[in-house]
Amino acid sequence: MGIRVRFAPSPTGPISIGNVRTALYNWLYARHTGGEFLLRIEDTDTERSEARYEMEILEGLKWLGLAWDGPIVRQSERTEVYERYLQKLIESDRAYFCFCTKEELDADYAAQLSQGLMPKYVGRCRTLAPAEAARRLAAHDPAVIRLRMPDALFTFTDLIRGRVSFDAALTGDIIIAKGFRAPLYNFAAVVDDYESGISMVIRGEDHISNTPKQLAIHQALDLPHPAYAHLPLILGPDRKKLSKRFLSGSLMDYRRAGYLPEAMRNFLALLGWHPVHDQEILDLDALVREFTLERVQKGGAVFNPKKLEWMNGVYIRTLSVEALTEHLMPLTPPAWQADGEFLYRVVAVERERLKRLGEFTERASFYFTLPSYDPALLVWKQTPVAVIRENLAAVREALRNVSPNAFTRAAVDAALEPVIAARGRGEVLWPFRVALSGQGASPGPSELAEVFGADETIRRLSAALDRIRA
Ligand code: GLU
Repeated sequence: MGIRVRFAPSPTGPISIGNVRTALYNWLYARHTGGEFLLRIEDTDTERSEARYEMEILEGLKWLGLAWDGPIVRQSERTEVYERYLQKLIESDRAYFCFCTKEELDADYAAQLSQGLMPKYVGRCRTLAPAEAARRLAAHDPAVIRLRMPDALFTFTDLIRGRVSFDAALTGDIIIAKGFRAPLYNFAAVVDDYESGISMVIRGEDHISNTPKQLAIHQALDLPHPAYAHLPLILGPDRKKLSKRFLSGSLMDYRRAGYLPEAMRNFLALLGWHPVHDQEILDLDALVREFTLERVQKGGAVFNPKKLEWMNGVYIRTLSVEALTEHLMPLTPPAWQADGEFLYRVVAVERERLKRLGEFTERASFYFTLPSYDPALLVWKQTPVAVIRENLAAVREALRNVSPNAFTRAAVDAALEPVIAARGRGEVLWPFRVALSGQGASPGPSELAEVFGADETIRRLSAALDRIRA
């Protein structure tokens, strides 16, 4: 049988970064091995599952370019299938109906705890005669279905963690369904992994304690089980478990903040895995080519938001001005789109500094509307105001002699050379830059002058002169 993996999210909340990494690793593994990547929506929890979260999952996968193979498996549409398997388990007596009430169970657990024991099901209904169970079911007594857990050690070889053992005796008989038509996660997952021919389960380490339960279900059903690979936890920058602050940041939050899918993919791929040669920037082809489970680390993977920003900046700079402008369009006020050529020039300059697309609106607003600034900002260090005024006038004079048709950065620099020689670099360039940007930090003045062109540059210089005179 071929290689087949699945991504099996529950649509019970915004799609988290941890889950997206699981999807990506499954996808990379499938593409690297020439296998298949299936998508399964685990929506058996009808109370918490919502259609909008499923849509978000699909949209997120598409955004990241992680196409799945074949139709989506939706657990809520497979009740009959699970029912068949549950019946088989009841008939073969590998599972049984349990009628214990919450009060009974709570009392059992409290008694166990008071004796210093791990709470687990005491097995009260284990030996209930089938006729008695049938009678109580017919009387509509509330019941769940429990699996008879064997008194055995479950050992499996995890592809990342090596040999892992769990003592099933510690678990007690687990609930696998709340009725024939209400399977729980562990049970439905086993049935679907088998029916879909899943060869390898790649998922977060938080699921490792489910694995022995699932192995027990496979065994009870006489079904072969897939191989397992549990991915390391994602840790916050302080190496503690990733806090809500980052985890609650869903994939869509990152998208809205202006991270590019290429950067997200690259960043998430390195969250627990690294290639043979320690390069950081890997495009999708390189990731597919290099990805192997052998290189996934055991220890927690530290989520470093600074690295994500840096990487996003790197990918932003690989985009052409046209492509980047296209990405920025939804974030750009309509008025900015009136002059496409001007917008391109702004984007070309800002591209060099941008870390997130979302920063653009704030960074670029001064190109479109000169902010009202304090004239004191025009003053370089201890230079007297009168001198600053003369310097601005000299800059304006020099630039009036530059042809408006060739108002390039180089032409502006050349025109300013004698002014700077006579009046000093900071004394000339600082007020010029503030005159153009109206702010304390911005790209350099000749870069800005080229973006603005001769008319607007002269206009802003005149405005600065008016301001400093007032
Ligand atoms: N629905 C589970 C989750 O979202 C899937 C676990 C698994 O991959 O088996 O965590």
